[in-house]
Amino acid sequence: MFEKDTLSVTGGGDYGCFDPISPPIYQTSTFGGGAEYSYSRTSNPTRDALQNCLAELENGQSAFAFSSGLAAINAVLSLLKSGDRVLLSDDLYGGTYRIAVNIFSQYGIEFEFCDLQSTKEIEKRLCGARMLLAETPTNPMMKVADLKRLASLCREKNVIFAVDNTFLTPIFQNPLSLGADIVIHSATKYLSGHHDTIAGAVVTSNEELAERLNAISNTLGNALSPFDCWLVLRGLRTLPLRMERHQENALAAAEFLKAHPKIGRVIYPGLKEHPGHSVCCAQASGFGGVVSFTVNDGSLIESLKRGGRIIKFAESLGGFRTLITYPLTQTHASLPKEMRERIGITKNLFRLSLGLENKRDILADLETLLSRSN
Ligand SMILES: *Cc1c(COP(=O)(O)O)cnc(C)c1O
Repeated sequence: MFEKDTLSVTGGGDYGCFDPISPPIYQTSTFGGGAEYSYSRTSNPTRDALQNCLAELENGQSAFAFSSGLAAINAVLSLLKSGDRVLLSDDLYGGTYRIAVNIFSQYGIEFEFCDLQSTKEIEKRLCGARMLLAETPTNPMMKVADLKRLASLCREKNVIFAVDNTFLTPIFQNPLSLGADIVIHSATKYLSGHHDTIAGAVVTSNEELAERLNAISNTLGNALSPFDCWLVLRGLRTLPLRMERHQENALAAAEFLKAHPKIGRVIYPGLKEHPGHSVCCAQASGFGGVVSFTVNDGSLIESLKRGGRIIKFAESLGGFRTLITYPLTQTHASLPKEMRERIGITKNLFRLSLGLENKRDILADLETLLSRSN
């Protein structure tokens, strides 16, 4: 087996006729001849190239590319049926909360949110549950769950264990190798990495789940288009290099913010004092490129929301550009107030996704944002 940085370059297989190095974009809805491919909702060679590469990177057998991260989550939740109970991280992407509570709970599926750092609590709640859906590190509070421990509890209790691996990517963390059944990605973020597409993915090594996910993808009709598959695959080619730089910049930003008098908490698993640091070190080979922090002074909120010369105020993460996000009104606006407050999503909290710029320029821009009076 090749190393990750080789797989990201070679993964996806060969593309037949003329032996192109980049896969052709099979921009066709249907195929004649009744051979290997028939209709692009069902399967498409460009999608297969991406899916093969994703499966290799995540140490899985099968991958499915979807039209967004939420379409991927939709597919995973479609494995459930009425009467099933699902446990989720209490601190998680706002859209995941929304699809669970606003859509799937209408069909008689029950959702419970809990702090996945506390394995005692989970052990109790897992009894009789059908699925556990974890994010680690969580968005935006960067809580780290012990994936091996959760995987063994799930196996014991016959619960499907799904992990949203968007924040660390297969370069830094492979949940399937730690015992998870399913890996989910918003490929909109690091996997594509260029702020130019919305995409999602699901990877598994479980044959039965793969068969069902394949049928679900074909039935829901939310698979990724050939052109977008090509964009994500192009992103994957440079993923290992980009992750190194995202992380280098995140560490620099975390240290800078920690030393800044106007900053309160700095939340980044790469900092030794982060409560999830040692678990993250044990199960992942990196900490990612997202840093959350609080400001001490409420008058800075408006300045940060205007963004800077480099740092853009925008909702997303994982791309080449450094973005600052305000979870309260952007990514996590759909969480109930009570839940937001319990988790710590307050008016003073910001999330920074470090891009690929030179770190000196990023830090200088941050300094400017923090020295503006309003
Ligand atoms: C963005 C995000 C999603 C949703 O993905 P989309 O591609 O925006 O649909 C899901 N999970 C996490 C952790 C995310 O950051």
